[in-house]
Amino acid sequence: MSAARRPLKSLGQNFLVDGNIIDRIIQAANILPDQPVLEIGPGRGALTNHLVERAGRLVLIEFDHALAAFHRNRHQGDEHVTVIDADVLKVDLDTLLSESPRKWNVVANLPYNISTEVLFRLYNVHSRLERMTLMLQKEVGDRLAAPPDCSAYGVTTVLLGLWFDIRRVIVVPPGCFHPSPKVDSVVLNFIPRSAAKAEVGDEDVFRSVVKSAFSMRRKTLSNCLKSAEFAKTVDCEQLLEVCAIDGRRRGETLSLEEFALLSCRVTELLRGALP
Ligand code: SAM
Repeated sequence: MSAARRPLKSLGQNFLVDGNIIDRIIQAANILPDQPVLEIGPGRGALTNHLVERAGRLVLIEFDHALAAFHRNRHQGDEHVTVIDADVLKVDLDTLLSESPRKWNVVANLPYNISTEVLFRLYNVHSRLERMTLMLQKEVGDRLAAPPDCSAYGVTTVLLGLWFDIRRVIVVPPGCFHPSPKVDSVVLNFIPRSAAKAEVGDEDVFRSVVKSAFSMRRKTLSNCLKSAEFAKTVDCEQLLEVCAIDGRRRGETLSLEEFALLSCRVTELLRGALP
């Protein structure tokens, strides 16, 4: 099958067709000499064609078998290119990225239906990344920059904000894709910080504190925290008191620093509870 088959809506196939936007993304990716690059969803190769010339190693993860076969065929002479025919959500990214001692550059025009889930996976491997340049639905991108106590503020805002400095590169209108999506998109640069924005103790605990705080948006913070696994060991009322955070607040009103404070305390309590 050729790469020219009809785009599949189920796989979020909105292919980039605007040369200027493609150039802006490649420029923003700032690929360093010999750097390993991961592209998620190469599609028909709008970005891949540029990445292949610049990357020291290029890994493509594509879930559309026909498109994966297309890339395998096209790049069979390029020894530095690996095509993984798989759902990115099922790929063990940590193991994959550990294959290179160098930090990776991730470039992707993400399929919108799984972009938030992919962001979580990339957050989990932040220590292996040098930079990410991602195209997202604008609404999802706006969420990453949202301040506390607004509806767009959520788990991705807090988690990614801990480790990445996020900068907007460009807003991309629907006409730059084929087929055109219904909404605007945005290209963002994610630059990992040299240290986390706040001390959080154990990062798994931080994830769990943040996820539980946002788990039921209409409920109080206190009730949300009680639904977390750590609440089996930690007294959440006492935890909130020690951290001087009012448990009647909603999770979405907490700043990153307040989440960090809770996480540090839960980490200490869990460590103290170990036999
Ligand atoms: N990079 C190309 C471009 O900019 O024109 C294509 C981008 S298109 C928005 C998203 C791509 O991700 C498609 O090629 C689609 O087949 C692929 N894709 C969708 N779901 C995927 C998944 N779960 N794992 C890996 N690739 C996926």
